[in-house]
Amino acid sequence: MPNGKKRSSKDLNNPLVSFLKGAAVYVLIGLAALIFFANLSGSVEQSKEVPISKIIADIKEGKVDKLHVEGEKVIADYKDASSNATSRKEPGDSIYQILKNADVDSQSVQIEVKDLSWQQSWISILSGVLPIALMVVFFFMIFRQAKDGANGIFSFGQSRARVFSKDSPQVKFSDVAGVDEAKRELQEVVEFLKTPEKFKALGARIPKGVLMVGPSGVGKTLLARAVAGEAGVPFFSIAGSEFMEMLVGVGAARVRDMFAQAKKGAPAIIFIDEIESIGRARGMGMGGGHDEREQTLNQILVEMDGFSQNDLVIVIGATNRPDLLDPALVRPGRFDRRVTLNLPDLEERKRIIGLHMQGKPFTKEVSIEKLARRTSGFSGADLANMLNEAAILAARENKTAIDQIDLEEAATKEKLGPERRHLVSEADRKLSAYHEAGHAVVGHFLPHIDPVHRISIVSRGMSGGHTMFPPTEDRSNETRSRLIEQIAAALGGQAAEKLIFDDISTGASSDIKVATEVARAMVTEYGMSPIGPINLAPTMVFGAWRGSDNGGEMSPELHAVVDKEVRKLLDQGFSTALNVVKKHKAKLDKVAKKLLEVETLDGDQFAKIVGKKVVA
Ligand code: ADP
Ligand code: ZN
Repeated sequence: MPNGKKRSSKDLNNPLVSFLKGAAVYVLIGLAALIFFANLSGSVEQSKEVPISKIIADIKEGKVDKLHVEGEKVIADYKDASSNATSRKEPGDSIYQILKNADVDSQSVQIEVKDLSWQQSWISILSGVLPIALMVVFFFMIFRQAKDGANGIFSFGQSRARVFSKDSPQVKFSDVAGVDEAKRELQEVVEFLKTPEKFKALGARIPKGVLMVGPSGVGKTLLARAVAGEAGVPFFSIAGSEFMEMLVGVGAARVRDMFAQAKKGAPAIIFIDEIESIGRARGMGMGGGHDEREQTLNQILVEMDGFSQNDLVIVIGATNRPDLLDPALVRPGRFDRRVTLNLPDLEERKRIIGLHMQGKPFTKEVSIEKLARRTSGFSGADLANMLNEAAILAARENKTAIDQIDLEEAATKEKLGPERRHLVSEADRKLSAYHEAGHAVVGHFLPHIDPVHRISIVSRGMSGGHTMFPPTEDRSNETRSRLIEQIAAALGGQAAEKLIFDDISTGASSDIKVATEVARAMVTEYGMSPIGPINLAPTMVFGAWRGSDNGGEMSPELHAVVDKEVRKLLDQGFSTALNVVKKHKAKLDKVAKKLLEVETLDGDQFAKIVGKKVVA
């Protein structure tokens, strides 16, 4: 909860007060209704109403005993006692004047005038003022309620930052595994926050902004919280998109409010996640909300520039798209420090897995080493989710410890989605079995492809089956030989379909996409085609694409050449794959048959059928 502000609305919330609030409304409504009907009933009079001329005529004839005048109402009591009649005169006219004009002697009848003017003026004042008063009261209450709810549009000016004060549970650097480089750089920020005097004494400028760059789930938020935890300062956290609202100017107001709060709690850390959603390069507006974003961004810049050295508020921004950021944001004195986080490598994965295994029981066969190898490409968040999912699976089956099977299933689910067990025709199963066996066999007989880890014809998410070749080591570079074989392995499924059924299915569309991407990158980025080293790939420059897939910056001639080279690589890959499945058709059949039987094979079961992998 953000501090301050909302105290007063709190005490309006107790039951008695809300009862009184409700009662007041009913009383007001009741009053309004009364006045309304009082006015109405004035015109629906019990005695018969007649024209004033009739009464005058009756007076002339001497039938009338007495006249009562109440405001504009004239009531005549007839001499025969049993009847009376009511009429109306014009408001301004006096009854004496009317009688005189009609040549009636005012002495011929008793006249009693009641002064009603004060009553009338009250009624007219009340009926004029009351509806307005009622409306004001209603709006006031709606406003209050919306404010209490804190998420109505009326709370627009307040920042929505979540605050972790000094006293809330602390995250420490030891809760973040791997990312040693980033921790080292952030250690400095911790020092600044802890002992600013030390740095000021030497005239050092305390940084105002740190940009954390990295894909999602690598621990940017966690690390920022750890900085606050290590320094023992409050942590204000908000996502860039939360500044954006339907009302222009709201974002800027929220920024102002959040910085004001942070300054009050200084030294403090403000964490802005997805900062690219506000800090997107100006003039590169994609879609609406442009003005709003610009105002919000400007307000952040104003606030950061306005920090004095005594404020000691450090803003940490996180993004996975630093290329989209406005250059003004990364100028000196703003987010001028950059900490990069990458997906964890093998060693780091081991440590993250170890950290998240704490407090969960595992069977003895579970090996961190094996898990870490198998989870290349997983982020810290993926790993944490995987271990949690494994625990859930084990619990569902009433196990007392998490075993390798749970972990394997959890890892596969994390990347491919949950299993979809649905009715599949025998023909479809056979097609899938040969398709996956095709990938596996082609991969197996190509020397640069990693060993098969798992094959399955159980569909998950979008895929009908899968074959996995996780890298056995972390490679920072790919070679041309490996990429060419990767194209072949990707097309291995389709090659097997062609060989066995002499037909091909739509099941290979994502394989073809992967193969095409690899081939195109080889030609346009890696200089691995006869065109030689040249970059023809579309690039992102400050949020705008230069060049495009259909060749924005390429001459038509060059474009045709690129297409031809990509085509050549794909054709070669397919014929390599086809040759392998032809040559090893017996093994292909065996693998497919086994898959139809058991649906999923692990690396060892596969190796039993095809023999040991010969690597390059
Ligand atoms: P990001 O902000 O980069 O998207 P988060 O910090 O939100 O990622 O990470 C989400 C969760 O993933 C964390 O709460 C933590 O459980 C786990 N996690 C991510 N990276 C790590 C890491 N390096 N060490 C330990 N846990 C991690
Ligand atoms: Zn496939």
